[in-house]
Amino acid sequence: MLNKEQITTLLQFVASVTPDKISCDACLDLVPELAESQLGNRPLTEVLEDVQNHIDNCPCCAKEYETFLEALHAIAEE
Ligand SMILES: [Zn+2]
Repeated sequence: MLNKEQITTLLQFVASVTPDKISCDACLDLVPELAESQLGNRPLTEVLEDVQNHIDNCPCCAKEYETFLEALHAIAEE
């Protein structure tokens, strides 16, 4: 198992080698917007395409996105 410090180092390494246009912080800010766009079958704006691209390359943001979608579905089912 990795400890928290190793995970942080690993994430920084991944972030530094991934050719992303946006940072994780920017990505997470836009996760709700991306989810709404996708659920509403709306075309993605340029910035949301960057977010999508970032999620494809960034496992931690992909997990955040997944968690957010699950939460949305849970709300929708109530
Ligand atoms: Zn990220």
